[in-house]
Amino acid sequence: MRHVIIGAGPAGINAAKTIRGMRPDDEIVVISKDKYVHSRCMLHKYISGERNERTVDFADENFFETERIEWKSEVAVTGIDAAGKKIICDKGDMTYDKLLIATGADSVIPPIGAMRAAPNVFGLRNLDDAQKIRGLAANAKKVVIVGAGLVGMDAAYALLELGKTVSVVEMMTCVMAINMDAYAAGAYQKRFEDAGCSFYLGKKVCGTGTSGDLVTSIELESGESLECDMVIVAVGVRPSVGFLAGSGIEVERSVKVDAHLRTNDPDVYAAGDAAGLSGIWPNAVKQGVTAAKNMCGENVTYDDIYALKNTVNFFGLATLSIGINAPEDGDHVEIREDRRNYKRVIMRNKTVKGILLQGDIRYSGFWQHLVKNEINVSDIKKSVFDITYGDFYGVDARGQYEWRVSA
Ligand SMILES: Cc1cc2nc3c(=O)[nH]c(=O)nc-3n(C[C@H](O)[C@H](O)[C@H](O)COP(=O)(O)OP(=O)(O)OC[C@H]3O[C@@H](n4cnc5c(N)ncnc54)[C@H](O)[C@@H]3O)c2cc1C
Repeated sequence: MRHVIIGAGPAGINAAKTIRGMRPDDEIVVISKDKYVHSRCMLHKYISGERNERTVDFADENFFETERIEWKSEVAVTGIDAAGKKIICDKGDMTYDKLLIATGADSVIPPIGAMRAAPNVFGLRNLDDAQKIRGLAANAKKVVIVGAGLVGMDAAYALLELGKTVSVVEMMTCVMAINMDAYAAGAYQKRFEDAGCSFYLGKKVCGTGTSGDLVTSIELESGESLECDMVIVAVGVRPSVGFLAGSGIEVERSVKVDAHLRTNDPDVYAAGDAAGLSGIWPNAVKQGVTAAKNMCGENVTYDDIYALKNTVNFFGLATLSIGINAPEDGDHVEIREDRRNYKRVIMRNKTVKGILLQGDIRYSGFWQHLVKNEINVSDIKKSVFDITYGDFYGVDARGQYEWRVSA
């Protein structure tokens, strides 16, 4: 059996590892247009010089040799012929028995002014982007970052570390609005400002000023003009699925998959950002493992869509969010804070729908369990913040800990 995996991110690498564990004699091929395996979460550390090509690699040392996996780096897949079980690549075609699409996502650069064409405007998705940013940063003084989500803040952090003058423009009124509330976000904004960063929140970019083919300023609808030598655009991503046009594999915005992460073709699976179920690392890992098991004949479903978990850490301040971040009408929000910690819980129908912890982020497994399993906590007569593992006791027939809280 020949398993081919397109993509060497967390979904692809963990799928390859899982298949090897289950099928010692099967052929496994991993294809990537990247030269090196790398963690996208570490790209800011590459830009700031804290890591290099080797130390952003998240796979085990000598992974491909040890696991006997054929590694095809710097190979771009340009098409798939699902009926013929053939992959079309820029460096020759190949066949498969089972295929995993784990191609992640691409940065979106909006068509504003010269943004798409200018050689000093970058997305931040691949090591290749980080290498270009680091290269240009050597001579750049002023950098504008468009977008204050996780990726934009990563970029801002890296460039502040390099001593650049950094301005961040964001449409929302706080930074990292998807990951946390305004209070928790404010703690990061303050730390970034203390490091010299300027924020333009609640503002929209409407144009660019240019000199030759370079963008030299970012224009805001408010009338402000931000001078720059380099721009990083971090306004979102799009699943990397363009090469599937005409392949026979169904695509909407992302690859369409069922609960087994199988596409409309029974021998083709998708996992990670390309499958569009979530856009975070731990879920890409789980999806890669799930798809791999199914490629080896198991019958496993992926059911972790609702327990979204994200950790942020800048300037020594950690924040963890699990579940939803924005309360809806009828939800009950509780907050507890002291000098070092901020906690916010969103309750719905006596269950925890979302938890945000800033400062001390221990016990994430406990909170994840509460959110994912929609545990009814109404019988515990104390603040939800004080519930601990001690409030559930006993073991079930299989020897697993079990919640003794009425449903
Ligand atoms: C700057 C940044 C910071 C982030 N920080 C965090 C964080 O702190 N926490 C978190 O949970 N998540 C974070 N993420 C998101 C996380 O990195 C992604 O969710 C995760 O990498 C998705 O994994 P994946 O395996 O689906 O795809 P990717 O990691 O994107 O890998 C895709 C692979 O597919 C290959 N590929 C794509 N198209 C082709 C093609 N046509 N032919 C051949 N190969 C192809 C690529 O070369 C690559 O090897 C961050 C992302 C970025 C960009």
